[in-house]
Amino acid sequence: MSAIPNPVSYTDFYRQSIEDPEAFWGAQAKLIDWHTPPQQILDVSKPPFTRWFVGGTTNLCHNAVDRHLATRAEQAALIAVSTETGSEKTYTYAQLHQQVQCAAAVLTALGVTRGDRVLIYMPMMAQAVFAMLACARIGAIHCVVFGGFASVSLASRIEDAQPKVIISADAGSRGTRVIPYKPLLDEAIRLSAHKPSAVVLHDRGLAPMELVAGRDHLASALEARHRDTPAPCVWLEATEPSYVLYTSGTTGKPKGVQRDTGGYAVALAASMKHIYDCRPGETMFTTSDIGWVVGHSYIVYAPLLTGATTLVYEGLPTQGLDGKPNGAIWWSLIEKYKATIAFSAPTAIRVLKKQDPALLKKHDLSSLRTLFLAGEPLDEPTGRWISEGLGVPVIDNYWQTETGWPIISMVNGVERKPSKFGSPGLSVYGYKVKILHEITGEELTEPNQKGVVAIEGPTPPGFMQTVWHDDARFVNTYWSSIPGQQVYSTFDWGIRDAEGYFYILGRTDDVINVAGHRLGTREIEESISGHAGVAEVAVVGVADSVKGQVAMAFAIPKDSAIVNDPEAAKALEAELMRRVSEQLGALARPAQVRFVAALPKTRSGKLLRRAIQAVCEHRDPGDLTTIEDPTALQTIQQMVGT
Ligand code: ATP
Ligand code: MG
Repeated sequence: MSAIPNPVSYTDFYRQSIEDPEAFWGAQAKLIDWHTPPQQILDVSKPPFTRWFVGGTTNLCHNAVDRHLATRAEQAALIAVSTETGSEKTYTYAQLHQQVQCAAAVLTALGVTRGDRVLIYMPMMAQAVFAMLACARIGAIHCVVFGGFASVSLASRIEDAQPKVIISADAGSRGTRVIPYKPLLDEAIRLSAHKPSAVVLHDRGLAPMELVAGRDHLASALEARHRDTPAPCVWLEATEPSYVLYTSGTTGKPKGVQRDTGGYAVALAASMKHIYDCRPGETMFTTSDIGWVVGHSYIVYAPLLTGATTLVYEGLPTQGLDGKPNGAIWWSLIEKYKATIAFSAPTAIRVLKKQDPALLKKHDLSSLRTLFLAGEPLDEPTGRWISEGLGVPVIDNYWQTETGWPIISMVNGVERKPSKFGSPGLSVYGYKVKILHEITGEELTEPNQKGVVAIEGPTPPGFMQTVWHDDARFVNTYWSSIPGQQVYSTFDWGIRDAEGYFYILGRTDDVINVAGHRLGTREIEESISGHAGVAEVAVVGVADSVKGQVAMAFAIPKDSAIVNDPEAAKALEAELMRRVSEQLGALARPAQVRFVAALPKTRSGKLLRRAIQAVCEHRDPGDLTTIEDPTALQTIQQMVGT
């Protein structure tokens, strides 16, 4: 493995990652411990499949936990804060090691071995993280399903992943409303053709549980038996799967994203250095959920791989440890635990935007260096509001469950460059990001041309290996949509400016064709949400016999009274239409702007435009397994008269 010469600029750093990926990633691989060093850095013998660090053996749990015991045993590794249960607990690396080893011994005792799947259906409690690390320790493949998903969604994932064991809890809680998980899980197992051989249940005393004899076990009883049973790390091939995680399902049936072991560890460790700039011993606060990819990467693995402290938070962004409303809870935790890096989602910031801005100034945030946001387009007003309010730079991150870590970002750990509002930044090292013409597949090399954001292989470490047990779906879904070449499509629109900054313009199926003109829904949404009276908006294209399609907007007004005040609604609608006409032209003007109290979103906070469009066209909204609030969609359905 040759060393990388000290890069003089991000441009050089990037170029090296593309021109000599073996040297580049061979050097990054030194950021983690290997039991056997890799024999071959990159194997591209079977495109589009990419294998990294072939012949190397390692273990994610060793790198996240055991490796730090020599130097950081007494340092905080994990701080679990729940405003749902009013609890706060710190685990040092030594304590984390003990907990994970015990959880691993329990799984082994239940017959789980290397390559078996373990499904984790849990709230954001420390034991969920222990369970993930325990799987990694013994080479079991974890499959985390967002806690509280309905039985049908859970059942389809059980059926697909075929777990030997399921780990769950008595209940989750949201806004202090208890959601019993056990009945949901029992129903899901009943619906699934595959049955787990054992279910392990953590009991927080939130909801009663009926145990199924011979199948269900209380975690506390098993742990008591295995407190001192050793469970050493199993050395895995770098290319062995570490987990399967399903995508959000914003555009249809979720895909089981399969990730490797060695490539993932290297990609995350490198990203903490170059992108997140989070150092050993510092605290990172990622507000996501372990049910999502951001949670896998930046709540669990990356901070621990780095020897940092991870803050694991259960609860709403607007509630205090006493269960009472507190719109400054996150900032108070940053102050208390001196977090240096925070990572959240635009959807959460939009929730906070409805709160008193003075709350952003209430706490001493001098430890905080950067706030990262990912998951959805970050509109400029929201980005500015939070950045100015907190007094720290905000970095938009563009990535997907499939990639595991950012595709487009500022890479300030390598070279500090100015961000541009509305742009997540530059192509991240290792990614050959291209803008392609959607029909001809031709690369659009001139600045500011709009096309499909695509990634040319070989894909970097950490990128998905395949769709779980479905190589054909991997190739057909992701690598076959651009004519004449095998490139990975993100299914997002974007442009790149003259300085290489990318702008994401929405999903490729979120385009409206009005009288032969193609318009991105995001542009219309940004125009409307830029109005001071609008908190949030969704724009969809609806079939129209004359124009082909027209834009329909559904907006949440800042003043909620407008929803039930036809006159005020009419006035605001007219104002918004005028605004869009002025900013984007008459073609983009929505046919209607309707005002609603809530918008249908996935559990991860992404707008379900696909479902809104379907009900506007009086069609079946299709797969709604990941919807957060079905009543928001029903309201729209009633409005448009289905
Ligand atoms: P599915 O693929 O099942 O429909 P999904 O695409 O919502 O679900 P995720 O992998 O969670 O599942 O989301 C990735 C998508 O989120 C991206 O393809 C993009 O559309 C959007 N996205 C993520 N981050 C950003 C960002 N910073 N700016 C704009 N869009 C983003
Ligand atoms: Mg997707």
